[in-house]
Amino acid sequence: MPGDPLPSARPHARLADYTTFGLGGPCRTLWPCATPDQLTAALSKLRQQAVPYALMGGGSNLLVDDTGLDLSVVRYFSTQPDIQINGNQVLVSGATLLDALAATTAAAGLDGVVYCSGIPGTVGGAVVGNAGAFGQQIGDVVAYIDYLEADGTRRQLPGTELGFAYRQSNLRSRGGVVLAAALQLRPGNVTALQAQREERLQLRRAKHPDWRTEPCIGSIFRNIEPTSAAGRRQAAGWFLEQAGAKSMRVGGAYVYPKHANIIVRTPDGTAHDVKDLADRMQAAVRAAFGFTLHREVILWGDFAGI
Ligand SMILES: Cc1cc2nc3c(=O)[nH]c(=O)nc-3n(C[C@H](O)[C@H](O)[C@H](O)COP(=O)(O)OP(=O)(O)OC[C@H]3O[C@@H](n4cnc5c(N)ncnc54)[C@H](O)[C@@H]3O)c2cc1C
Repeated sequence: MPGDPLPSARPHARLADYTTFGLGGPCRTLWPCATPDQLTAALSKLRQQAVPYALMGGGSNLLVDDTGLDLSVVRYFSTQPDIQINGNQVLVSGATLLDALAATTAAAGLDGVVYCSGIPGTVGGAVVGNAGAFGQQIGDVVAYIDYLEADGTRRQLPGTELGFAYRQSNLRSRGGVVLAAALQLRPGNVTALQAQREERLQLRRAKHPDWRTEPCIGSIFRNIEPTSAAGRRQAAGWFLEQAGAKSMRVGGAYVYPKHANIIVRTPDGTAHDVKDLADRMQAAVRAAFGFTLHREVILWGDFAGI
């Protein structure tokens, strides 16, 4: 119907086409939503029909089982940035890519999210997982979010109520959707911010695989939290490297030679290869140091029991 915001559903879509790992079997139906209206319409239809679903953004933090998912998947993602600038505050849709947000705010002379340059996820995924890099995290600048609760109620939630901590927020267990986020940024110098953005992108190119040519997700394991208030967080990559992870490989999945906390897959690599390799990496650190690394990536499908 003209004007109907309901997106066209894709039955039995392969989730591999929507994750940066290029992995994942089919779901029941994929609902691609680029705008809050499309998302609201799709979710209301799924709720009416009592269809179980999972929500994804850029698929850059998800390891999806090769056998797929016996659920529908709602994908809130857009390559068209939806960003409104109001003084030092920026209102950005949850579907907008972080890299587009970094580029736009740097060009507008606003400081606070330029470090997100090159992170392939969406703003919604970043807020829920409090994504960060170079000592900064998105939760530091969230003024409020526009949130659609699991029951369809829409509300504004202040950033101070979202329980932001290292790579987490209380939204993870709440089950709703970040439709948009208002970010409180600081005035900065455009030339300096754009130079900072270039530097971040260069650093990523030097140290990380390019997921388009070397499929991967971000860090497999979380860094280690300090045991006292005075302590510092320790890089999981250091422990993995000491435990010999850099030479590990399972089938078509191997540890990235320049970063022991990243797994890359070859064209014939499967999600099970990745999962097995991650288990071996975890076991190696346990054997060498006596503690268990916790996964940062999220597992979907049979091997995760969903
Ligand atoms: C090459 C590479 C580099 C990376 N570098 C970094 C880095 O430096 N720092 C970092 O923190 N991460 C990094 N990551 C990981 C990843 O990009 C981030 O965790 C990102 O924030 C995930 O966003 P996404 O949209 O891809 O979420 P997805 O992977 O699609 O989903 C992750 C979780 O968020 C939920 N979710 C997604 N969108 C929404 C929404 N709108 N509302 C509510 N819930 C939602 C999903 O249900 C799921 O539980 C990197 C990944 C890659 C591939």
